[in-house]
Amino acid sequence: PLTVEGARDFIARAKEAMDSHKDYLTQLDSAIGDADHGINMSRGFGKAHEKVSSGSYGDLGGLFKDVAMVLMGSVGGASGPLYGTFFMKISMKLAGKTEASVEDLREAALEGLNGVLALGKAQPGDKTMVDALQPALEAMKGRAGEAEALEAAVKAAEEGMLATVPMLAKKGRASYLGERSVGHQDPGATSSYLLLTCLRDAVL
Ligand code: ADP
Ligand code: MG
Ligand code: MG
Repeated sequence: PLTVEGARDFIARAKEAMDSHKDYLTQLDSAIGDADHGINMSRGFGKAHEKVSSGSYGDLGGLFKDVAMVLMGSVGGASGPLYGTFFMKISMKLAGKTEASVEDLREAALEGLNGVLALGKAQPGDKTMVDALQPALEAMKGRAGEAEALEAAVKAAEEGMLATVPMLAKKGRASYLGERSVGHQDPGATSSYLLLTCLRDAVL
């Protein structure tokens, strides 16, 4: 299960992952966007890590609420409000809990995904972060073990991320390119995949 300490570790890992993939994410965004996704994510998770590493939390909800607020206030662009909403919905679902099972996490992340869908109006297949998140949550359904569920989520997110390459972007800056968006991996789907690897590593 994910404990409050585990959630802190998740955010520390996310900061590391966004730092070490900063240039990669920015490179992906330079092909079909404005070359700032790595910068945005590295700044946002740097600040989120700073916030939660010094805070004391009675429940997972409080910790993820701080993450959401910091992301909303510091990431900017399209992904800031979207990831902010994602973590805000998760925080609401995990309010009062000091431990979340993998099923709790799946349900919370599903609320998060629904928040992203409501705000961004993307459909699966539009070449966005939704294309990594949605299959990951789908793949976790009905998995018996914790490790099995999290490994399935990461694998499905990776496949979803890779599947964005041939997609035509329908949302965000990449959609301005029309057909020229085809043949490039979506930066947001890539950061979502990275976040799932961090969650897996924090729990297992
Ligand atoms: P910006 O495009 O404003 O510079 P970022 O570069 O940080 O913001 O993030 C771009 C990513 O945000 C895209 O790769 C895509 O995954 C995601 N994104 C953009 N618009 C939407 C949307 N409407 N719904 C879901 N995700 C979106
Ligand atoms: Mg960008
Ligand atoms: Mg931008």
